[in-house]
Amino acid sequence: MATSETTTQVSQPCSDYQGFVPHDQLLNCIHCGLCTSSCPTYLVTGNENDSPRGRIHLMRGVEESRIGLNERVRGHLDLCLDCRSCETACPSGVEYGQLIETFRISDRQKQLEKTGKGLNWFERIFLRDLFPNRKRLERVLWPARLMQMMKLDWLIDRVGIIKLLPMPLQRMQRMLPKLQRDQPVLPRSLPAVGTRNARVGLFLGCVADVMFRHVHWACARVLQEAGCEVIVPKTQQCCGAMEFHTGQTESATHRALANVDAFGEQPVDVVLVNVAGCGAMLKEYIHLEKSGHATSDEVTRLNRFAGKVRDITEYLAGLDLAPPQGELPIRVVYQDACHLKHAQQIDQAPRELLNKIPGVEILEILEPNICCGAAGSYNLLQPEMSDELGNRKIDNILAKSPDAIVSANAGCALQLMALLKQRGKKIPVFHPVELFDASQRKVTWDELRCR
Ligand code: SF4
Ligand code: SF4
Repeated sequence: MATSETTTQVSQPCSDYQGFVPHDQLLNCIHCGLCTSSCPTYLVTGNENDSPRGRIHLMRGVEESRIGLNERVRGHLDLCLDCRSCETACPSGVEYGQLIETFRISDRQKQLEKTGKGLNWFERIFLRDLFPNRKRLERVLWPARLMQMMKLDWLIDRVGIIKLLPMPLQRMQRMLPKLQRDQPVLPRSLPAVGTRNARVGLFLGCVADVMFRHVHWACARVLQEAGCEVIVPKTQQCCGAMEFHTGQTESATHRALANVDAFGEQPVDVVLVNVAGCGAMLKEYIHLEKSGHATSDEVTRLNRFAGKVRDITEYLAGLDLAPPQGELPIRVVYQDACHLKHAQQIDQAPRELLNKIPGVEILEILEPNICCGAAGSYNLLQPEMSDELGNRKIDNILAKSPDAIVSANAGCALQLMALLKQRGKKIPVFHPVELFDASQRKVTWDELRCR
């Protein structure tokens, strides 16, 4: 194993890191290596230190004070996408996602204690202050929306002025999708069509509500048709994932509790999410308990809330809906989002929904379990690996010549749209419920692809 390279080149073991991650969880790994072939970073670099087994070995070495936590070790750990494909592959039930997240957060907090240095400028301005704030993000994107409406956005690409910006900003510009015409804000509640069978809450998120509000509307319409009253609490916030993953556990906990309160104002049977990354975070609010910023009563409420969260495809598949009537004669690639397939273990529900739509044929691609490289803010912070994986995914998709791509995660959709644009390919990307809704409303394929 190449881990010896790291173990030997580090000369100063440091006992500061004991207790970073629960030792018994590290010991659950029996080093069988069955996860390595499902790890995207290992597939690209071939370096054991970039595999789940290697990273567990590194974390354990640091935790047992055999390995110092230097930049090289951190580099291997930071390269991890937290896609959790290794969890699906692991026969020993190692909760790798919990290990790497706890390790990173502890490392962040330790560095803050030691150096007084907190977030860097990008994390502060974008990941903390901008993205989780829906209204601010909407204001910032207004000029871009205007440029797109006036069809002047190509000018920015042509002039090349963007190249003067720091890399994360260049990548953000590249990731910006074609913004839909202003969609109205969803009202506080939408009635069920016919007899009410359930009252459901709809989670909007932050980036998703600004860039993919049309998906929220599609979900609301399908839910209404299914006999659900849809409640959209106005005080709901971002899920808190960006803060949690950058070690700001206190503000992530406050956000989580604000969401618990928001969805508690009008009792709902379930809380539905249409972004896999947010859904995984909401379902795992209980992990915020370890941050120590919630009282035992608040922990109980977080736990109860998390138990009500469902991905929208999971919920709709459970309702056994009648097939919609509109024909969509298209061949689609369904792209498994890591935070749906691996973090929530949902892969059949979106396919079941798509299979109900008359005319839709699902194409399966090579390496369906391998991440597309989006992984939250990973595509902004680890551009090389993100592009490598994104292009690998696009190659596998294009090999099937689909009419459309379907993904149940806004982050994956943005990543795939950007890479398709870069290659000059006009293949639209949809949420599965968007296609279901279009079929229910008998929107034709020609109308849909030109939206
Ligand atoms: S989470 Fe993904 S990238 Fe990280 S070790 Fe597991 S499979 Fe590899
Ligand atoms: S994480 Fe699981 S699959 Fe991977 S080496 Fe450890 S025990 Fe084996």
